[in-house]
Amino acid sequence: MTDAPVLYWIRRDLRLSDNPALSAATTMGPVIPVVILDDSIEQMGAAPRWRYEMGLRALAGAYRAHGLDLIIRKGAAEAVLADILTMTGAKAVHWNRLYDPDSRARDSAIKTALRDQGIVAQSHNGHLLFEPWEVQTGQGGFYRVYTPYWRAVMGRDVARPLPVPTLRGVDLALDSLSADDLNLAPQMRRGAAVLARYAQIGAEAAQIRLAQFLEHKVGSYKDERDFLDQDACSTLSEHLSLGEISPREIWHMGWEAHRHGEVGAEHFVKELVWREFAYHLLYHSPQIATENWRPEWDSFPWATDPNTPHVMTWKQGRTGIQVIDAAMRELYVTGRMHNRARMLVGSYLTKHMMCHWKIGLDWFADCLIDWDPAANAMGWQWVAGSGPDAAPYFRIFNPETQGEKFDKHGRYRVRWIAELSNPAPQTALDFFEAAPRSWDLQPKMSYPTRPIVDLAEGRARALAAYGERNS
Ligand SMILES: Cc1cc2nc3c(=O)[nH]c(=O)nc-3n(C[C@H](O)[C@H](O)[C@H](O)COP(=O)(O)OP(=O)(O)OC[C@H]3O[C@@H](n4cnc5c(N)ncnc54)[C@H](O)[C@@H]3O)c2cc1C
Repeated sequence: MTDAPVLYWIRRDLRLSDNPALSAATTMGPVIPVVILDDSIEQMGAAPRWRYEMGLRALAGAYRAHGLDLIIRKGAAEAVLADILTMTGAKAVHWNRLYDPDSRARDSAIKTALRDQGIVAQSHNGHLLFEPWEVQTGQGGFYRVYTPYWRAVMGRDVARPLPVPTLRGVDLALDSLSADDLNLAPQMRRGAAVLARYAQIGAEAAQIRLAQFLEHKVGSYKDERDFLDQDACSTLSEHLSLGEISPREIWHMGWEAHRHGEVGAEHFVKELVWREFAYHLLYHSPQIATENWRPEWDSFPWATDPNTPHVMTWKQGRTGIQVIDAAMRELYVTGRMHNRARMLVGSYLTKHMMCHWKIGLDWFADCLIDWDPAANAMGWQWVAGSGPDAAPYFRIFNPETQGEKFDKHGRYRVRWIAELSNPAPQTALDFFEAAPRSWDLQPKMSYPTRPIVDLAEGRARALAAYGERNS
């Protein structure tokens, strides 16, 4: 260890524990933690940007407790890093890897440029259990189907999580924006106050959620996770998305619970591995986020305009199909949506409404506080039928029978649709507080008496188009 400072470049890893890049940096010298607000942040949707800012505030507090200040700068990453290296005399930069195509291109260019200048530039795995290139089929290719992927990884050794390292800062005054007044999502004028009531922010909250889930819910997870009105899932996705908790911590605590007799824990770990699989797919076929994974879908007659009145009823939770509308309003109020509901609204949009999955992908990317480039792309291509391991197109969810099955008592629908009860619960009223004024929606409005798409007709039309596509 020397006294030359070391830069740790923070991206989607807003935590101190089990953080390989941070731990490696601390072994080399005093650390300068740097956040760079570059194009990758600019391009994020409104709700994820808001959630990212909240995460940064929590992280700044965690560093402050260790006597360190976060250095937050706006600009192109390469230029910002070069400037801080010059100002501080630092000779090394560490970061945890990201796997989407833009981040990969940016990071490898930066790595090359830094190394050419004699700077140590080292990336680490802090985002995944398994590097995408380390899991291969017998033929040396990548997996396209989840179950064999799971079989390939389930028995693998995963390194034990790292402790919070001892942090040493530097005694230098460096220019920085304040985490408390970044205003990264100015368009969230109405939504932010509502979202803040539902979100849980920061690494500490993530650890509490994991512990509570494993103590109280994991036992019934397998049986109850599909029920819309149950609070049966871990809700860890908003933390995983920003790295407020590491997948290795969840993996080890999950298997630990399993060893202590919680049979449901295996199913939970299996779900966590869906996230790994999504990254495996994104890494090996980056086009999954932008193109039909199966090119035979390119000629399918999906509607592509995201702003038609028809699509707006879907976005606004006014389709007249209660379970769809409840889910779309849950999304707008909480920035989250139950997994089964994501499948239902996706199926309804791409099949009954015959709209392109990219409309849904983009809307989720704008509204989800757990937005994740890999899981979102895989989820939409799965639901549309165009992905590698996808639901067959002809298996069209009937949202009404799904509602009867997974929201038997209607509690989920009443929780989110104010027009269904009097007095309406606060959750349902919150939607009207969060919704943009331009939508002109009031809780006193009557609920649509007829669905925008008749379910039988919509299904028949989708199947006919599917049949033509195959002919
Ligand atoms: C159309 C569509 C879009 C989606 N978009 C996203 C997204 O942007 N971000 C996101 O994190 N998830 C997305 N998912 C996956 C899934 O809905 C969420 O991960 C899950 O609802 C998160 O809730 P939870 O943390 O309580 O999950 P739990 O059931 O407690 O599962 C634990 C963890 O496993 C992972 N996981 C579980 N199911 C899946 C899955 N199907 N795919 C990938 N990972 C999974 C998540 O990291 C999750 O936090 C999408 C699914 C669909 C169908």
